[in-house]
Amino acid sequence: MATTSREIRLKSRPVGMPKSENFEVAEVALKDPGPGEVLVRNSWMSVDPYMRGRMYDRPSYVPPFQLGEVLQGGAIGTVVKSNDERFKEGDLVESMLGWREAYVGPAAPLTKLPQTNVPPQAYLGVLGMPGMTAYGGFNRYGQPKEGETVFVSGAAGAVGSIVCQVAKLRGCTVVASAGSDEKLAWLKSLGVDAGVNYKKGNLLENVRAAAPKGIDIYFDNVGGEHLEVALEVARPFARFVECGMISIYNDTTPAPGPRNMSYIVGKRINMKGFIVIDLIDMREQFLSEMGGWVKDGKIKWEETVENGIANAPKAFLNLFTGANTGKMLVKLD
Ligand code: NDP
Repeated sequence: MATTSREIRLKSRPVGMPKSENFEVAEVALKDPGPGEVLVRNSWMSVDPYMRGRMYDRPSYVPPFQLGEVLQGGAIGTVVKSNDERFKEGDLVESMLGWREAYVGPAAPLTKLPQTNVPPQAYLGVLGMPGMTAYGGFNRYGQPKEGETVFVSGAAGAVGSIVCQVAKLRGCTVVASAGSDEKLAWLKSLGVDAGVNYKKGNLLENVRAAAPKGIDIYFDNVGGEHLEVALEVARPFARFVECGMISIYNDTTPAPGPRNMSYIVGKRINMKGFIVIDLIDMREQFLSEMGGWVKDGKIKWEETVENGIANAPKAFLNLFTGANTGKMLVKLD
């Protein structure tokens, strides 16, 4: 019996801020799974800022999305039909085959999720790629020590909110930047020491007031002015964990870099860019320690949810207007 699935394709490459017209919905018929294949119905899919980079036609650490083809991204689904001995009907699986309601494909690249009390979509957030990015990037490249001051930009998002909490668990003082007072109030409820609304007043003055002794670690999700401010307030031997630069992802002409890069020399700043796949060797440590924190209620998370595959582009666009608190997800059931 034929199964159908709706999927989101890239219709045109965005110029500047992406628009809904850059995407199209298509319906496809799915065949029965062949040997070694499964039919999976997705229940959750992730939209992530890095996907913007894949919409440009240029070489990067992941290949660009192709025009007219279905997009890709993290997803959680349930096996509906299996022609592979490792999977049975009802198994929950994680894949990189998001942006579609269902798919038939090889079972080999799928990860079976454990049966726990944690909601499955947590494997797209706190226990998935964003959580790993936060935990691994902060610990490995931030090298936190008790008593140090950490500045986190994009702090109320999927990665930033986890960085803030891991930093608190490591005994650090945390200064968070986010785009609304509501987001900062939530971060304070998680234990963050001081918050800066970057949309209000002078960012440098506000960060200086929040971190009067300067910062030892900057976890950068935003780039641009935030990076310049972090260089300004950095203490000698500060570590800059360069995770992302969402403030410039939609720029049509390259933005001028921080004007104060010379601080890297005088302050002996260690600036390290990374991609989460570099941290694969930390995966077991991450699942064990983060899993324990989640179970014990020491790490909390928020989700912002859009419903239905047709709203997936909207969810993606909303990442760039700050509509999400915590992880932005699309529910497909
Ligand atoms: P978020 O959940 O943080 O969502 C994006 C947030 O960015 C928005 O909610 C918004 O919050 C903020 N934002 C959007 N535009 C701007 C702007 N112009 N200036 C300042 N803030 C802005 O996304 P993620 O947690 O998934 O990702 C955070 C960062 O980490 C991104 O840069 C992403 O590319 C990067 N990343 C890097 C990885 C790696 O392997 N290196 C892996 C995963 C993510 P607000 O209301 O505060 O403006």
